[in-house]
Amino acid sequence: MANRGETSVGPTLATQRATDSGPAPGPGDGGEAAQVIDRREMLDRLLKLGAASLVAALASGASLSPLVAAAKGSETKQKYRYGMVIDTRRCVGCRSCVAACKAENKTPPDVAYIVVLEEALGEHTDDRPLFMAKPCFHCDDPPCVPVCPVGATFKRAQDGIVVVDYDRCIGCRYCLVACPYQARYFDFGANYPAVEEETSYAEVPSPEYRQFRVREEGESPIGNARKCTFCLHLQDEEGRYDRAAGRWPACSKTCTGRAIIFGDFNDPESEVSRLLKTRNGIRLKEELGTEPNVYYLV
Ligand code: SF4
Ligand code: SF4
Repeated sequence: MANRGETSVGPTLATQRATDSGPAPGPGDGGEAAQVIDRREMLDRLLKLGAASLVAALASGASLSPLVAAAKGSETKQKYRYGMVIDTRRCVGCRSCVAACKAENKTPPDVAYIVVLEEALGEHTDDRPLFMAKPCFHCDDPPCVPVCPVGATFKRAQDGIVVVDYDRCIGCRYCLVACPYQARYFDFGANYPAVEEETSYAEVPSPEYRQFRVREEGESPIGNARKCTFCLHLQDEEGRYDRAAGRWPACSKTCTGRAIIFGDFNDPESEVSRLLKTRNGIRLKEELGTEPNVYYLV
């Protein structure tokens, strides 16, 4: 992994695991790229051979490497329940949220942590269209988590944010298939021209997960599953966001129509909680029991 300008602020993935689905890497573990690639290749081959149970055993055991230690059986309590209320009546379809997310997270072509869907609401050309911004829903029961054979994707104990550990992900894409909301993307390694042509933009690290990776061929997150993180790198050490200080998910901070409201559902006084008390929010595919943490006002 190529890290630039790494700071010590904030939590690491290792201390945040919500489940016992597999061990987590320790801080600073991302440096052994060759070791990670070897393991990835090995697990990939095993998966191709259909040896899913062996892969799962390797993933859950302590034998893979000292990269993966600690935090197993974490008893961290859920302090925050972050989520969004998205008001489709306020969304004007400008897609500034999409651009802001790309600028913040430096995602490559064909990887979009938020998209804006558009539906015609009537039969006439001048009928108002329905725009629906769609990030990852950070489900309370996320189907993407249990299918991961190496425990690389998990729901964080302290705030319910579903994350991907790029150093563990083997790129099998099971999670992409399992997500009923198509909220996950595979990073095939495509680049925008500014990166491809090795302009200075190519050297700008992504703050994602506070890992400050610079995009380089053959290195994570290329070859990994990717998704919205609720911009968790903007949290302070206590796991709080601060809108006034600019530490707020980029899409919500930038939304022209103020349609994307972000906050903590555990706080009854938060804007998201108050909105749900006064307006009927709906969630997509409720019948699946995924318990998404993104509600829509229609
Ligand atoms: Fe997982 Fe998809 Fe739910 Fe996000 S929306 S937590 S990727 S199942
Ligand atoms: Fe992108 Fe952050 Fe919004 Fe998620 S919360 S869609 S990562 S800007």
